[in-house]
Amino acid sequence: MIDLSLTDEQKLLEQTVREWGAREIAPRIHDLDNEHRFDKALVIGGMKKLGLLGISVPEEYGGAGMDYLCLGLASEELEYVDTHLRVIMSVHAGLNCLSLLTWGTEQQKQKYLVPQAQGDQLATYGLTEPSAGSDVRGMQSSAVKKGDRWILNGEKMWISLADVADNFVVFVWTDVEKKKKKDPSGISCFIIERGFKGFSSGTLKEKWGILAGNTGYFKMDDMEVPAENLLGREGEGFKIAMFALDQGRFTVAAGATGLVRACRDASARYALERKTFGQAIAEHQLVKQMIARMESDYQVSRLLWQRSGWLKNIGQRNTQETSLAKWYATVASERASGDAVQIHGANGYSNEYPVGRFYRNCKAAVIYEGTREIHTLMQADYVLGFRQDKPLRCSLPPYGK
Ligand SMILES: Cc1cc2nc3c(=O)[nH]c(=O)nc-3n(C[C@H](O)[C@H](O)[C@H](O)COP(=O)(O)OP(=O)(O)OC[C@H]3O[C@@H](n4cnc5c(N)ncnc54)[C@H](O)[C@@H]3O)c2cc1C
Repeated sequence: MIDLSLTDEQKLLEQTVREWGAREIAPRIHDLDNEHRFDKALVIGGMKKLGLLGISVPEEYGGAGMDYLCLGLASEELEYVDTHLRVIMSVHAGLNCLSLLTWGTEQQKQKYLVPQAQGDQLATYGLTEPSAGSDVRGMQSSAVKKGDRWILNGEKMWISLADVADNFVVFVWTDVEKKKKKDPSGISCFIIERGFKGFSSGTLKEKWGILAGNTGYFKMDDMEVPAENLLGREGEGFKIAMFALDQGRFTVAAGATGLVRACRDASARYALERKTFGQAIAEHQLVKQMIARMESDYQVSRLLWQRSGWLKNIGQRNTQETSLAKWYATVASERASGDAVQIHGANGYSNEYPVGRFYRNCKAAVIYEGTREIHTLMQADYVLGFRQDKPLRCSLPPYGK
């Protein structure tokens, strides 16, 4: 039997995150966004208290031990308030922590996952480079082994939390011959720390959305990394990068769903108040059509990410379903925020109302964690039989196992 109702724990989590967002963030978000200010104490402090930074990490590794639907619910509620909150769930809780949980050694989990899940250290994911985004094989960063250490060189760009995170998973070529042939089995993954000699980072100043969040770059200049910081085996980096995206995309899908709902609620509120031609604009059919589309997009997006979360809970591969959920919800959030601005008329074009911020924020998610075009190709390739997912050496632990 299909049961889509939430458990008491899930309902409580949803309610708690919703109330925290409304109480602590919503009254301040206009100013934080306006001032391009990432308020670490407010945001990370609050998320830590709620246990969100290790939400789906088992309690034995310092997490809250909640299921993957809870990760989605938290992401949806956070992005309802502002995208930068959900981005933290994507890179820290999704891309990084769940990769360490799945691919890490016991020693790596104790050293990095435990403090991250407890919210004492912040983590992110460095794949993109100035000259390589969708085409991961085009990246240039590399590592050579010297005794019991690896020497890493390269630059990662467009990295969420780059200038504020403590730990990073980073992807580099470790096989020069394979790099020449663009064979991804020559890529490896390392855990690195901000404090490592040769590490430097900065913030991207010209970004025009998610302004309350930090996005930046980091450089590795002859950075020495202990051999025990190799995540997975040598040559498994590309697989880990793609595995991580299955987790990050899930949070992006759920977050974009929250953004569609935020657009719907703001639009309905405004449409009932604003009058033209002697009646509330809510009475005009063309306005109703936009609001109805937001509602249908919200419901479809929610079902899609929930299916993906359920597959994670029962331990089934969900690359295809998660890609669809991410693609659908992010494109829907772009449509919803465009229409939300439209419904607000000129007021929508002002930062006095939140919908302009929604419009600026939604676009990045149509680009990161697989662009709209990459997901379009993936979905077509599954249908056409050009793409099949091969089993991985390590898979995400099912809920409760
Ligand atoms: C706010 C923000 C935060 C980010 N955070 C992170 C992060 O934390 N970590 C990280 O590693 N990266 C991060 N990224 C980077 C993001 O993942 C990349 O921007 C994304 O993968 C796309 O790469 P690109 O920008 O190089 O675009 P490109 O790959 O150069 O693509 C340019 C355009 O060409 C299209 N295109 C490319 N290849 C094809 C193809 N085969 N067929 C059809 N169309 C194609 C794309 O869809 C796109 O429209 C972030 C980006 C943003 C904007």
